[in-house]
Amino acid sequence: MTRSPDVPPVAVEDLADAVRLLRERGLRLSTARRLVLETLLAADGPLSAEQVASDLRLDLTSVYRNLETLEQCGLVRHVHLGHGPGLYTLVGRGEHEYLVCDSCGAVRVLAPGELDAVREGVRRQFGYEVRFGHFPMVGKCPDCSDRAR
Ligand SMILES: [Zn+2]
Ligand SMILES: [Zn+2]
Repeated sequence: MTRSPDVPPVAVEDLADAVRLLRERGLRLSTARRLVLETLLAADGPLSAEQVASDLRLDLTSVYRNLETLEQCGLVRHVHLGHGPGLYTLVGRGEHEYLVCDSCGAVRVLAPGELDAVREGVRRQFGYEVRFGHFPMVGKCPDCSDRAR
């Protein structure tokens, strides 16, 4: 999927919150769905569907289906951090944005709002409302730019 789903992100604090939201939407909490949620909740950063499937020893198709459902609910987002597959993450306490180094591949996960000043500058100059949660901001990390100097 290269389009961002038109669903507003939903912030949740924990598994109980996420489960409550699923119930409100009339979605049942299958074992696979709960395991996928728990894995994303425990992860340090975005995970590929393959990683989730192999960690949980679940069928990849079922993991994809569950990730898509969770994304449609606004609980999960995917990001393209390189040329690989989309990586999935829980919206959690807010939608994250990313900086990626195209020399060494370093990824910096930014807290919601950290790029607001950048966003404001782009809006003022170009009228675009930019977000870096689906595709990151790409450039050179501090180490790589030091090395280039
Ligand atoms: Zn995409
Ligand atoms: Zn770098």
